[in-house]
Amino acid sequence: MLSVSDAQAIIFNKVQPLNTQQDTELVDLLSAGDRILASLVTSQLDFPYWDNSAMDGYAVRYEDVQHCSEEKPAVLKIVEEIPAGVQPQLTIQSGQAARILTGAVMPAGADTVVMQERTRKEGNRIIILAAPKQQEEFVRKQGIYYQAGTQLLPAGILLKASEIAVLAAVQCTQLNVFRRPRVAILSTGDELVTPDKPLQPGQIVDSNQYALFTLVQQSAAEPLMLGIVKDEPEALKQAIADAITHADVVLSSGGVSVGDYDYVEQIIESLGGEIHIRAVATKPGKPLTVATFENNVRPVLYFGLPGNPVAALVTFWRFVQPAIKKLSGLAQGWEPLYIKALARQELCSGGKRETYVWGQLGIKNGVYEFQPAGGLQNSGNLINLAQTNGLAILPVGTTLIAAGEEVQVLQVGS
Ligand code: AMP
Ligand code: MG
Repeated sequence: MLSVSDAQAIIFNKVQPLNTQQDTELVDLLSAGDRILASLVTSQLDFPYWDNSAMDGYAVRYEDVQHCSEEKPAVLKIVEEIPAGVQPQLTIQSGQAARILTGAVMPAGADTVVMQERTRKEGNRIIILAAPKQQEEFVRKQGIYYQAGTQLLPAGILLKASEIAVLAAVQCTQLNVFRRPRVAILSTGDELVTPDKPLQPGQIVDSNQYALFTLVQQSAAEPLMLGIVKDEPEALKQAIADAITHADVVLSSGGVSVGDYDYVEQIIESLGGEIHIRAVATKPGKPLTVATFENNVRPVLYFGLPGNPVAALVTFWRFVQPAIKKLSGLAQGWEPLYIKALARQELCSGGKRETYVWGQLGIKNGVYEFQPAGGLQNSGNLINLAQTNGLAILPVGTTLIAAGEEVQVLQVGS
């Protein structure tokens, strides 16, 4: 059985990110949120586009006002008013000023803005009551934040609202982004039924398909629901063969333990897959199977998740989600994110396998705290998984973390 760190190294090394040539598409700005840039972006515009005022005030020549004060004010003639969006018409001469509003273009001749609060208006004259701190005060110079033709955004970043704002401002309206990875999901088990069917004695509702669908969607990937497959080798082989031809990643759940009906591993091998992991020292989640298919049009990563619903979610969060993020082209930040928190209650483990305790991560008085889910921490207890946003980690050898002690928590659910 592999350690978690060995399993993680194998999985993350096997992930081949989407190809910057073949796996991309052009999208417009309003469809680019939550997508990953596939090539660097440059703009033909400087930012600011032109010299403009950072204040409501008066555009002046620095030499006219540099020595003025309340006792010895400078008096200038207002020759023009320049609201934002209007092209100035005049060149400011010595002894002149232009009324200017925030964002408006600086007029020729002027090099400094005096804020309105340091002036007094008398008819068509403006009295400047304080000298600017320096030349060009309150002027945003053209190109000071960004110069046309240089790199604006690098490839491999996730586009969020802040990047969309930047791209809009510099008129980059078509973006080359990675396509979403396709993730096939199938559930195995004769006992499974969909949530809309009346339960017959002994049947179990296929909750994994629904949970995994949502998790894949939230990982910015495209889920392909392949449904429930019976524990029959031929049916299963057909379904897995279908999955690997259509997807970049396949997630099956169930059928990977040592039971009489656990066929997944032998089918992977019969289809030419190479199994890298058959079990990992985690609790829950031990019977995780990981394989790759290199004989396909493109490489496929196969995760045979445990059937147990809690174990399926935990192994997804711990191993599958980072792998999907890396595959999707994200250059940085795809790794699992851990936060140090104080345990609000004691946390227990058998000590032999890395143990995940699910619960809620919150902040109290500026300090992270972890509250384990109420009820039994038992991998059969699917119900108390609701509201989980963290998995506290008890490493191998740790059997107890007392209330008030520090614990590493894997942030999950986003
Ligand atoms: P298995 O690994 O196939 O032996 O399944 C382990 C346990 O998880 C059994 O109790 C299954 O009934 C249950 N299980 C398997 N697949 C699912 C599923 N898709 N949804 C909910 N429970 C499942
Ligand atoms: Mg089964």
